Amino acid sequence: RKRCIRISTGSKQLDAALNGGFQTMSLNEVYGEFRCGKTQLAHTMAVIAQLPKEMGGAEGKVAYIDTEGTFRPERIMEIAERFGVDPDQACENIAYARAQNTEMQTELLDGLAANFATNEYRLLVIDSVMSLYRTDYVGRGELSERQQVLGQFLRRATQMAEEFNLVVLMTNQVMSDPGASALFAGVDGRKPAGGHILAHASTTRLLLRKGRGEERVAKIVDSPDCPEREATYIITTGGIND
Ligand code: ATP
Ligand code: MG
Repeated sequence: RKRCIRISTGSKQLDAALNGGFQTMSLNEVYGEFRCGKTQLAHTMAVIAQLPKEMGGAEGKVAYIDTEGTFRPERIMEIAERFGVDPDQACENIAYARAQNTEMQTELLDGLAANFATNEYRLLVIDSVMSLYRTDYVGRGELSERQQVLGQFLRRATQMAEEFNLVVLMTNQVMSDPGASALFAGVDGRKPAGGHILAHASTTRLLLRKGRGEERVAKIVDSPDCPEREATYIITTGGIND
């Protein structure tokens, strides 16, 4: 039997709130407004996943599906330096792919199964999970088709998380436009994109927001094994930290 592993976020406070970090064999969603650190968390965990277990890692490789073109190898190298690992090696251990549309996002996921079957991968990042669905499926008329295709993608990701012992880390934006929100999720204007299908697929959901000054706040939302609690973190050259 595969054993579930936890991967650190880079922040001790946030790890404590998550009982040690994000768990393998599950889908995890990190959502929040722009610039609150979703992509920075994805970069940080892409390095930490490679580290020894004593350092909060999982000694594994990383797959990174980028839908917004915001992956930066230079950031990986800076974060690698914080943890004292070789920056080039840290980059080499990340299988990077840029998705241009939802069809490609699904194909990339299927293509990664071969990597997962032949190498020890422990983290799959999807940054961000909904952005291409929101541009490929526009308007109310396409919503049910979108949710159906999204559901298939998420089921496949869940299977892979369980079969290959992966943390799946999905980022997502909140919709502040009340019109879009009413259309896609709810009516209160601060909902993550993706509606119920995404909400139910994610084991742990983390809501990020800006705090005082440089501080950022993460709130754990509907986790099966953590109470709803908050933790603060900062974004540094070395990635997410306390
Ligand atoms: P979006 O919704 O637009 O994708 P995001 O939540 O992914 O936003 P990030 O790109 O993760 O946001 O975070 C951006 C923040 O990270 C900015 O406030 C920026 O100042 C900070 N940041 C980026 N690089 C560094 C660095 N090297 N050192 C310190 N802070 C940094
Ligand atoms: Mg981002």
